[in-house]
Amino acid sequence: MPTKNIKKGRVHSFETFGTLDGPGVRFVVFLEGCGLCCKYCHNIDMLDMKDYMLYTPQELLNEVKPYKSYFKYGDGGVTISGGDPIIQPDFVYDFFKLCKKAGIHTTIDTSLFTNKDVIDKLLPVVDLWMVSLKHFDNKKHEWLTCQSNVGILENVKYLSKKKARLWLRQVILPGYTDTRGNLKALREFLHSVRFELVELLPYHTFGIYKWKKLGKKYELGGVKPPRPAKVLKIKKMLEKEGFKVLLNE
Ligand code: SF4
Repeated sequence: MPTKNIKKGRVHSFETFGTLDGPGVRFVVFLEGCGLCCKYCHNIDMLDMKDYMLYTPQELLNEVKPYKSYFKYGDGGVTISGGDPIIQPDFVYDFFKLCKKAGIHTTIDTSLFTNKDVIDKLLPVVDLWMVSLKHFDNKKHEWLTCQSNVGILENVKYLSKKKARLWLRQVILPGYTDTRGNLKALREFLHSVRFELVELLPYHTFGIYKWKKLGKKYELGGVKPPRPAKVLKIKKMLEKEGFKVLLNE
């Protein structure tokens, strides 16, 4: 079959036995590029659109297939992450369509910075949406990520309305997202949508060396990871509201 019309994906790298990006054992595909520019991004090396391999959906599935037998444990499967895979929607659609045909569970890890047409296209082939929330104050969101949160929050509500299986994620960034105001807004937002669980991601500094290597200024240099007691307090506060909370450390 000629391949010239097949959309190729820009793939940065793989992780073959991922346990942090969705349920069970997962083959995690990191795609190159993202529509945001988070100041704490620990995958900054995936955003410059310079360092990637081109794969057709079938070639990528061939990489995944040898690991299929591990997926039967705990709802495992493929997670497509990045960067943000939502900026390569046609490739994600074609690849996930092949995964579904092969009986492989599909998860997308995204900021949901996109439009409803893309969401509608992906809905039939995505089993689980993992959406990272950044900040509820729009000005702070813009400062932290270069983009507004308005469309993103609307998209989460849209997924909720469509009864998509949805996990929400919140980075706990001391002084920014763990403030009383942001946590109140988080609680209110969570009460307004239908989702399965909320995952807390304590801020870490493991990716700073990548910023230095790329010669980029890391503006959050003075911010330390949150105290475990503070993260636990947030977890308990959300559980008290009736939410299922996962702590991803
Ligand atoms: S959405 Fe994720 S990949 Fe994109 S800039 Fe933010 S942290 Fe980095």
